[in-house]
Amino acid sequence: MMGAISMGGLKSLYNEFSTLKNSKKAPVLFVGHGSPMNAIEDNFYSKTWQALGASLPVPSAVLSVSAHWLSQGVTKVTAMSMPETIHDFGGFPKALFDIQYPAPGATDFAEQTIQLLHDSHIEADHNWGLDHGTWSVLVKMYPKANIPVYQLSIDYSKPPEYHFNLMKDLQILRSKGVLMMGSGNIVHNLSRLQINGQVYDWSIEFDELIKSYIDKGDYQSVVNFRKSGNLAKLAHPSHEHFLPLLYTLGMVDSRDNHSYFNEGIELGSISMRSLLFSQD
Ligand code: ZN
Repeated sequence: MMGAISMGGLKSLYNEFSTLKNSKKAPVLFVGHGSPMNAIEDNFYSKTWQALGASLPVPSAVLSVSAHWLSQGVTKVTAMSMPETIHDFGGFPKALFDIQYPAPGATDFAEQTIQLLHDSHIEADHNWGLDHGTWSVLVKMYPKANIPVYQLSIDYSKPPEYHFNLMKDLQILRSKGVLMMGSGNIVHNLSRLQINGQVYDWSIEFDELIKSYIDKGDYQSVVNFRKSGNLAKLAHPSHEHFLPLLYTLGMVDSRDNHSYFNEGIELGSISMRSLLFSQD
């Protein structure tokens, strides 16, 4: 399902992304982050992240919703001026633990975000930082770490529709140049990884089902992904890697066009399918 990206392919990717420079609203991303190793490898996926960062309009800040920051009963917003790089994984080479991503925080936008979400249980956070769902992608997109970054946690006690609806109040941030990025995976089952890379039928089926909903603009069916029963359970034994997609879709309106990048399934059960929403 995956292959090396050709130079021609990469060039057309740059062209496609760079047409967005004149759009009035910042685009919205969903990034399949996959293995933390993508942060230090130069591969098909990380090359696309580089091309994206070089081609998208320069954002005023990045708002990341990562599968790796879950909270209970409250949504938190990182509000520190210098967020720490969190190495929230084990069993990887020292080179990965050595990575620092010293992007500044986005304290003004964090404050605005808290105000915009005043109806929800929301609070400023000074303890988290940037987890690998955020920095493993941004280290390739914005290697200079010169774009302010802040994160919103996922209140894992809430049902899927809560996450989708929450973002309606934050859509205005796009007009202020904030690039929102959901970081997870459309299929994510670590207990069924296939070292030989053989892809399960249910991986493809769930991945394509979600794609078909998005292509139809039927976001409610994406929100109701658990209705696909056993298929959803296989794709997401726990669904923290799926929820960032709902945050991304919550930032989208009817004027957005979408395109896919990094389509492919890694190790049998991790979909890298990623999405870019943008307006002319
Ligand atoms: Zn992850």
